[in-house]
Amino acid sequence: MQTLYLSADDPGCAETAAAIIRRGGLVALPTETVYGLGANGLNEAAVAGIFEAKGRPQDNPLILHIAAPEEMNTICQNIPSSAYTLAKAFWPGPLTMVLPVNGLVPKRTTAGLDTVAVRCPDCAITRDIIRLSGVPIAAPSANLSGKPSTTTAEHVRHDHDGKIDAIVDGGPCRVGVESTIVDLTEDRPRLLRPGGITPEQLVEVLGDLVIDKAVTAQIDKDAVVRAPGMKYRHYAPQEPVVIVAGSREKAAAYIRRHYAPGDRVLCFQEELPLYDGCNPLAYGAEEDVNSLSAGLFAALRELDDPSIGQVYARCPTGGGVAYAVQNRLKKAAAFHIVNAEEEA
Ligand code: AMP
Ligand code: MG
Repeated sequence: MQTLYLSADDPGCAETAAAIIRRGGLVALPTETVYGLGANGLNEAAVAGIFEAKGRPQDNPLILHIAAPEEMNTICQNIPSSAYTLAKAFWPGPLTMVLPVNGLVPKRTTAGLDTVAVRCPDCAITRDIIRLSGVPIAAPSANLSGKPSTTTAEHVRHDHDGKIDAIVDGGPCRVGVESTIVDLTEDRPRLLRPGGITPEQLVEVLGDLVIDKAVTAQIDKDAVVRAPGMKYRHYAPQEPVVIVAGSREKAAAYIRRHYAPGDRVLCFQEELPLYDGCNPLAYGAEEDVNSLSAGLFAALRELDDPSIGQVYARCPTGGGVAYAVQNRLKKAAAFHIVNAEEEA
């Protein structure tokens, strides 16, 4: 198949992409978080195409994207008031809510759960495409399953050229990590995945938040969990990654002691001079956490190279958006962390 390349600036872009979605095709879409691989979320066969193109496990449900907050009524039922409160505060934006699903959404989309994940993205062209297609668009990150997420149209081309109907190029993604996911179907709101909307922001609006254990630790692949996708080793380059925690100086000393030719160092811009001769790659500036979230997946893709031995990674500390960056890096490292302060 020949993949059609559309620029978000082309006048006919939204209508062309929407027509492909309506006839059951696959279109990669920009959002403020990462590029998604979109299909009609109410069409079983179209949704099956997403799983096939990504090589995604069937028990990993998809997020449905809507053009306006009130559209959650078309796919959900028994919506709690907290969902409306969050929608008012953060939509359009990088927040996904898990809500009770209604009978219109196929099991293939929800992986058979009685809940569905819903988001209204902050990206005008993609909201136009959803509106013109007239259906919610199911869209997981557009990477091949298990690979780092796609934050540019070029990343999508690399993974899917010739295998999907179209790619809409809307430039690099602003946030760069996938949406925050909050489950509103239990007594207390539960954070399933951190992202651009921070735990602090959620607590400010909801007054309460439970952090799911999948956020902070590796989940066994056979475990039964609220968010099935969270047990898979996501966002991972091909070679082992270890996070080196601690002060700049102690971390640099540790890494320099262990570095072998063929290894790489994934660090902050400010640290580049400390890793002369160690083939460092900066993914953003430590003083600007948004640059770290925006740059992380492109850097992990660059490091997704079998000729690399080991990656030593530096991870920001603290809450806010740094919390999401930590989560993604820890997953890439399969929660393998050494503390340079404690290593002699
Ligand atoms: P991605 O494939 O990167 O878009 O990630 C989608 C994430 O949303 C996965 O981790 C899924 O497990 C999660 N998800 C989707 N639907 C649900 C749901 N109904 N309940 C809990 N998590 C969900
Ligand atoms: Mg993904």
